[in-house]
Amino acid sequence: MKKLIIAIDGPASSGKSTTARLLAQKLGYAYLDTGAMYRACALYSLQKSISITDIPAVTDMMASIEISIRNEQAGNRIYLENVDVTDAVREEHISKLASDISALAVVRTQMVDLQRKLGNQGAVVIDGRDIGTVVFPNADFKFFMVADAEVRAQRRWTELQSKGLSSIFEEVLSELIERDKNDSTREIAPLRAADDAIPIDTTKLDVDAQVDLLLSYILPSVEDI
Ligand code: C5P
Repeated sequence: MKKLIIAIDGPASSGKSTTARLLAQKLGYAYLDTGAMYRACALYSLQKSISITDIPAVTDMMASIEISIRNEQAGNRIYLENVDVTDAVREEHISKLASDISALAVVRTQMVDLQRKLGNQGAVVIDGRDIGTVVFPNADFKFFMVADAEVRAQRRWTELQSKGLSSIFEEVLSELIERDKNDSTREIAPLRAADDAIPIDTTKLDVDAQVDLLLSYILPSVEDI
């Protein structure tokens, strides 16, 4: 069986993570959530009270940060200094900070190295913003997922509700729009579709339909599945 590298990029809450996780399950592949890595950097800066405008301090911080990704029965878990922070990094106050910290070269270089190390053996589905453009420009499949901002905000709002985190829909929507702008206008590795990425609009698709659509592209290339 071929060990493909499957890259899924797109703006916030476009369906990447859920689709990537389920797709990885169906293919028997590992799943790598690169957003969680930048979120872990953001959480660490908060824990260490480091301002992300203080580049020397962020550089020192990155020299000591210990991030690990483990594929456990509960799914893909992210650890910061051996503490499971998978749920903590998904909290809303981390999102914007993750977007800001991910614009820094010292952070990106280190995270991209780690992502390449974790993914280069193949048999992996990786989601993020720059996977098809920067991290694995030679990925076997590149998808770029989009959806209307209101639909994406609704998904994010529902996710927060389901975790018992109350939030105001309009705030979720404006935070999402601001974060996408931040991510797509930064100098290093901005959010954009690779020229050869397959566009997937998830506005009207549920999760199963998203996974099936991606599989319809992938399965003909995978033997013995
Ligand atoms: O995907 P998620 O919303 O968890 O990502 C959090 C933030 O991490 C994004 O807003 C983006 O700024 C950053 N990110 C990135 N490159 C990636 C994945 C995430 O810059 N490959």
